[in-house]
Formats: sequence, C-alpha cells, structure tokens
Amino acid sequence: MHIRDIFKNQRTTFSFEFFPPKGPEAAEALFATIADLERLRPTFVSVTYGAGGSTRELTNDLVVRLQDQTRLDPMPHLTCVGHDEGEIHAILERYARHAISNILALRGDHPAGEADYDHSRDAFARAAELVACIRRFNDSGAHPHPAGFGIGIAGFPEGHPETANRLHEMDYLKAKVEAGADFIITQMFFENRDFYDFRDRCRLAGITIPIIAGIMPITTIGGMRKMAELALGSRFPASLIRAINRTGGDPEAVKRVGVHWATEQSRDLLDHEVAGIHFYTLNRSKATQSIYDTLGVRDSTDLLDA
Ligand code: FAD
Repeated sequence: MHIRDIFKNQRTTFSFEFFPPKGPEAAEALFATIADLERLRPTFVSVTYGAGGSTRELTNDLVVRLQDQTRLDPMPHLTCVGHDEGEIHAILERYARHAISNILALRGDHPAGEADYDHSRDAFARAAELVACIRRFNDSGAHPHPAGFGIGIAGFPEGHPETANRLHEMDYLKAKVEAGADFIITQMFFENRDFYDFRDRCRLAGITIPIIAGIMPITTIGGMRKMAELALGSRFPASLIRAINRTGGDPEAVKRVGVHWATEQSRDLLDHEVAGIHFYTLNRSKATQSIYDTLGVRDSTDLLDA
C-alpha cells in the first residue's frame, strides 16, 4: 500500500527489515522467518541493498518474490552508490511493473574496503538527488499507483557521522523532504530521548512528514559489535552495557536483556505517539514476536487506533 494510504488508515505502523540471503540455505531460513512474521501482519517489510556486487540483484529478486508470493508489502532500499541513471531507471521500471508501492531512497554505504569512496563518481552523490529522480519517474506516470512510489528517506537521531554540524544536517534532511520524500525511517538508537529530540528538531525545521523509529533488539554481543561497526556513531547507553555485562556473556541472558530493552523502548515510543516502529530483525523472528507479545499487540492491525 502506498505510504500515504497507510497513514490515512493507521495511526502507528509496525514494519520489519530484512537483508537479502546470500545462499540457498540462508534463503530457506529467511522464508521460515517470514512465515513466522507474516502472522504479525507488519504494515510493510523492507529489504536492504548491498554496497555493491551480486547481493544487489538478490534484493531486487527478493522484493519481487515477496510481492508475488506472500501477503507482505515489501519496500526495497535503493542506493546511489555505483549506479548510473540508466541502471536506477531499470530498477524503478521493474519495481513499477510489479506494483511495488514504496522505496527507501538512500545514498548508501561505501563498498567494503573503500572507506574513501568518492560519491561524486556516481550519477547521484546524495540521497536527495535519488529522491528527485524517483519523483520525476512518478511524474512520468510510469507507475500503476496515481501517486507513483511512496518515498522514504533515512534520518539520524544521533547525527550522521559525516556531518559534524547538526544545524547543517537538518538543512540537508529538509532538502531531501523538499525533493519529494514522504516519510523518514531512523537509524537505530537505544535512548528514546535522542529520538524525541530529533523529532522536535525536525518539526522546528518545518519537516512534518511521519518519522518512523528504527529499533534493533540486541540478541548477541557479536551482533551488537557488528551493528556498532555498520551504524557508526551509534551510542550504547551505560545502563544497557551494564545490563549486558551482568549476564557474564550467557547468550540466553544477553538475548533477554536486549529484547527487554527494545520492548521498553517500543512501549515508551507508543506512549509518545510515534508514527511507526521499524524493527531491524536481522532475519530472525523470535525477538520481534516477543516484543509484540509483551506489548500486548496480536498483530499490527491492533495498532489501527493505538
Ligand atoms: P544523504 O542524505 O545523501 O547524506 C549523506 C551525508 O551527506 C550525510 O552526512 C549528510 O548530512 C550529508 N549531506 C547531505 N546533503 C549534503 C549537502 N548538500 N552538502 C553537504 N553534505 C550533505 N546503506 C546501504 O548501503 N544499504 C541499505 O540498505 C541501507 N539501509 C538503511 C536504512 C536506514 C533506515 C538507514 C537509517 C540507513 C541505511 N543505510 C543503508 C545507510 C546509509 O546509506 C548511510 O548511512 C549513508 O552514509 C547515508 O545515507 P543517506 O541516505 O542519509 O545519505
């Protein structure tokens, strides 16, 4: 469903993020996860896009498969890195043919091992230019929905590591909205205060589109370290680290601590009228299921008037 129509009908969205599986075994595991999570009737699910190489095709294929073979509403992530305009157009055309409703438009991470990647080599050096490109595609009438693709963008409650000036950063975010974005999904954060302050700063800057909070339940210490590497700048509060340290590294206890933390964050976000929560599932179902259970949410349609 187009994001505009979703927010007309549903005050709060619950959505899930997957990454494309690398081989047949991982694909089977992901589809088992998806079967479990389908019961929770997420408002939409998103599929990440690799920084380059063959996993990109896997994203496109997975999105189309989810659209054609499940009841889920898949939203692909699309990045500027390594693409010329023709390639972006070909991807948009394929998604439009399959009536994909929404796209998350990103600049993208630099390819592995290329920390000094020069984004000016790409057709679009910034996400704002990709948003404008998708908007032009929408205006051409090439999509079956009268409004074309709904367009999501990334937001960073704790700030993006490449922009030290937080006032400038808000200007850049506003430029993405003015280029035609319909909603924001945030980077994961572990302290809700950071999200509320970000939401307030957006409103002060005149950014009024829905802001969906990104929540990642920590389930392993290794996973936490990996996410800290991928989402540079993320702050892990002392209270969370203390709780994880108390487990002495016991894997089941770490999971309980991480899921409890994410559940409390989600409960508080619902109490503060968050537009939506996007769960970084890491292709697993148990943590998300447990959060729904503890929040007393049978499935996402319970949030229609939450
Ligand atoms: P932009 O909005 O282009 O911003 C990039 C940097 O440039 C920021 O520091 C910004 O402040 C700065 N900037 C913007 N405009 C200007 C300007 N005019 N002048 C100077 N500086 C400017 N990465 C992937 O590779 N694949 C994924 O699937 C993926 N999914 C993600 C999902 C979410 C919800 C989030 C939050 C991030 C995701 N990322 C993904 C990571 C993201 O691509 C990186 O964090 C990237 O570095 C920033 O992307 P952006 O779309 O915010 O870029």
